[in-house]
Amino acid sequence: MEVIIQPDSAAASALAARIVGQRVARKPDAVLGLATGRTPLRLYQELIRMHREEGLDFGRTITFNLDEYVGLAPDHPASYRAFMEEQFFSKINLRTGRAHVPSGHTRDIPAECCAYEEKIAAAGGIDLQVLGIGVEGHIGFNEPTSSLASRTRIKTLTEETRRENASFFGGADKVPHHVITMGIGTIMESRTCLLLAFGAKKAEAVAHTVEGPVTAMVPASILQMHPDAKIILDEEAAEELARRDYYRTVFEGKPEWQQY
Ligand code: PGA
Repeated sequence: MEVIIQPDSAAASALAARIVGQRVARKPDAVLGLATGRTPLRLYQELIRMHREEGLDFGRTITFNLDEYVGLAPDHPASYRAFMEEQFFSKINLRTGRAHVPSGHTRDIPAECCAYEEKIAAAGGIDLQVLGIGVEGHIGFNEPTSSLASRTRIKTLTEETRRENASFFGGADKVPHHVITMGIGTIMESRTCLLLAFGAKKAEAVAHTVEGPVTAMVPASILQMHPDAKIILDEEAAEELARRDYYRTVFEGKPEWQQY
């Protein structure tokens, strides 16, 4: 794992955007895995700026989002499809048919989940997957005790996650109980994983993820087994890491050819 600690979430998001931007510039038909939530918002804003001001071209890019609520129509304001359209897709030159979000508004959920996996495979797999992390260590909506080998499927949210996402729905009681999420096995097949975490609230989950045992109780800890996982943090999210000084030394001493 490469742990990168930045002074604040703005600097961390700018660095993450450079990594994503480099990938798209080098491979215009790159397949990006995308996340929703508060954490990646600045990353998307920075990518939009790079598109407008530096000509970063998403014309051939393909994207797959991690998850979606079951039962919400794509145009429901709290759906992740609507979130992505508003925050990112409508502001870059991504072609509509290339931006994939699981459909939570379907009668046959297992078929939708299988089809999603098939679409990822047909696109050649995910080159770079953006991830947030839940306060209990989830990635995507793979809550603690999710199978570390899981594929895209339906999951039931924990009460903690429903409380965390209450503001998007105007109350925890309005947050759906069920979601479709890429599995942990699906995420682990991405060639690069880029996990972002900001704020003191995430510090414990980050410490368990990076320095604790690999366990389904902290799904993000499986990233210790990934050959190219980058964990990009602000100071607050890094504050419970025992080896944070070492991670800083590594980052500051990177040879020029390894820098972002
Ligand atoms: P957040 O959610 O970015 O809104 O904190 C992260 C997550 O639940 O994965």
